[in-house]
Amino acid sequence: MEGSSGKKDQGFQIGIDLGGTKTEIILLSRGTRELFRERIPTPKDEPDNYTAVLGNIQGLVKKALTCLPDREKYTIGIGIPGTLDRPTRLVWNANTTWLAGKPFQADLEKRLGRPVVMDNDANCFVLAEAMAGAAKGFGLVFGIIMGTGCGGGLCINGRLHSGSHGIAGEWGHLSVDPAGELCFCGNRGCIDTKLTGPAMTRAYSKLTGQTLDAREIAALARKGEKDGVRVFQQFLDDFGRAVGGLISLLDPDAIVLGGGLSNIPELYSLGMERVRAYAFHEKVRTPILKNRLGDSAGVIGAAWLGASA
Ligand SMILES: [Zn+2]
Repeated sequence: MEGSSGKKDQGFQIGIDLGGTKTEIILLSRGTRELFRERIPTPKDEPDNYTAVLGNIQGLVKKALTCLPDREKYTIGIGIPGTLDRPTRLVWNANTTWLAGKPFQADLEKRLGRPVVMDNDANCFVLAEAMAGAAKGFGLVFGIIMGTGCGGGLCINGRLHSGSHGIAGEWGHLSVDPAGELCFCGNRGCIDTKLTGPAMTRAYSKLTGQTLDAREIAALARKGEKDGVRVFQQFLDDFGRAVGGLISLLDPDAIVLGGGLSNIPELYSLGMERVRAYAFHEKVRTPILKNRLGDSAGVIGAAWLGASA
């Protein structure tokens, strides 16, 4: 068990959200007051992306510290698109390939000259939403990020549960379809190959040859366009099966959705109906909530994560 909002109400906290496309930093005072925030693109086509990212983060921290009152103590937490393997402290399961297998925590600590608390980005998201967002006040909260990938995290009474391998909540890599698409993790038919924006794009393209994003496909479905309806209905059904199974396994007090696809309103109505059909209880009443902190959940969660060490 790791992570909590522990000492976030005192002192200063730096939070970093490292994503595949952007890197964001925040400096908080007493866990809530924002003193500095900046967002820059994450390098992806550099000859050495890994070193470039380390340099970027070092630069962002230096900038943030110009807003820190003299000689004040601060903590640093970071959310990454991957898992930090507990015994080796190496990054695993990152679909950001240049990060996989790297001693990212140790390298960052060396660069910054201080301890850094690191966890999966979905864990940072659920910590923030469970403590101060849509799922505030619920005991067992499962957070789902559905965007370019599909991740999850688990927060129990305000504490993150990362598990003995650091993979608790990695529900996106439940293989639900042996005949499905190959996932980057090496398995076939993972939830991650179905409940993401790129997955919807691929499904629609297979039927029509056209490349549309999830929002465009959902809009076509609402107008009754045949292929749009087919892809969108399949998406809602996959959501129902995946979330219904999750509820049967964990029976959480609330589920909070984040990522670009959480903006699809039908998930909370038609999607919920499908969830009821698949969960092991006819009258499932688990609240499925839209995130309240939006894009900021990751970076705020990371700042609080840092305060928990
Ligand atoms: Zn997978």
